[in-house]
Amino acid sequence: MTTERPLAFDTLAIHAGTAPDPATGARQVPIYQTTAYVFRDADHAAKLFNLQEVGYIYSRLTNPTVSALANRVCALEGGAGAICCSSGHAAQIMALFPLMGPGRNIIASTRLYGGTVTQFSQTIKRFGWSAKFVDFDDLAALEAAIDGDTRAVFCETIANPGGYITDLDAVAAVADRAGIPLIVDNTTATPYLCRPIEHGATLVVHSATKYLTGNGTVTGGVVVDSGKFDWSASDKFPSLSQPEPAYHGLTFHPTLGAMAYTFHSIAIGLRDLGMTMNPQGAHYTLMGIETLGLRMQRHVENAGKVAEWLEKHPKVKAVTYAGLPSSPYADRVPRITPKGAGALFTFQLKGGYDACVKLIDSLKLFSHVANLGDTRSLVIHSASTTHRQLTEEQQIKAGAAPDVVRLSIGIEDVSDIIADLEQALAQV
Ligand SMILES: *Cc1c(COP(=O)(O)O)cnc(C)c1O
Repeated sequence: MTTERPLAFDTLAIHAGTAPDPATGARQVPIYQTTAYVFRDADHAAKLFNLQEVGYIYSRLTNPTVSALANRVCALEGGAGAICCSSGHAAQIMALFPLMGPGRNIIASTRLYGGTVTQFSQTIKRFGWSAKFVDFDDLAALEAAIDGDTRAVFCETIANPGGYITDLDAVAAVADRAGIPLIVDNTTATPYLCRPIEHGATLVVHSATKYLTGNGTVTGGVVVDSGKFDWSASDKFPSLSQPEPAYHGLTFHPTLGAMAYTFHSIAIGLRDLGMTMNPQGAHYTLMGIETLGLRMQRHVENAGKVAEWLEKHPKVKAVTYAGLPSSPYADRVPRITPKGAGALFTFQLKGGYDACVKLIDSLKLFSHVANLGDTRSLVIHSASTTHRQLTEEQQIKAGAAPDVVRLSIGIEDVSDIIADLEQALAQV
């Protein structure tokens, strides 16, 4: 008997989740631009609605192009199941949805994408949910923040914007002791640099808008479930472990085993919240992922060279790139992101806020945009844009103080990237 040889990352990035189209032999995944799917007969339709047979009903729930993407990201992250959503922010709500209820809370890292801080500190309150923000380097504070109503712990692998790397294993151990899942936003690392499930994460979320798609064309999100969490071990997750009235009394776990969370997310989450990815969007992201490994390699290589160069520049006060030996998080790189510390980091200018604004207005190759993970090099002054809704104290905690500029290093020739920074810094 032969055991099937597992495929390597770069092979999975091209092949996972897809096969030649059975109807036409089309080699590339077709864009199934359809809303609905014809049932074979009334019995087939009933079985699909009962989750007794897996198949396509309506594209708010599932679509073959979107499923191909979900299965590919699932394979790259080493998960059991995945769903795609209309954006990264939709993926975050979708990830929390099966776990939460009015009065429940999550514990979130202080170092998060600015939009996530706003979503968690303001908007989720409308659902009766709340978030407590804690410095995840202080494991005792994290443990102390967890209470009887806590249903998840949330952090980012490489935190946006500050070049911070979370000690995922340590955080996962705290969540595990409390019997609650760890959700990791792996957007800025991508599964090429880190696979959070291997470090104890229960769920992984992505903004596919960024590196997965890779060239700034569409918004998208993905939620990957490890399939490893025992939802029935306590009474904390009744939507999964008890008969669910929203799905004619089906008990998702343990009935559906490792797929309980994924099926819940499709059958109830996508059905009722409708934060669905469209097949065109999925197509762009599938194209992007084919070159994910190649791109990430170059992103990391360029980021390392730019960070080193900036650190020596007389007008630069500090560079927060975990790939630099000077970073307090450098020792986490070999363990958490062994192929590199990503391509997103910040630096501080000695000239403060005004110097930052002058620098940004002087850059030519860099695009001044509220985005990251593009093939193009991008720059933004977080304090006046993405992190603007935060108080100055929150900005500083999030690594987005007024004298900080954030870079997302692209895959252009690195000499051109450095030359652009050099001419712009000369004008500061
Ligand atoms: C962009 C981003 C998000 C939000 O994703 P959208 O696709 O813009 O909704 C969440 N987390 C991180 C780390 C991001 O960079």
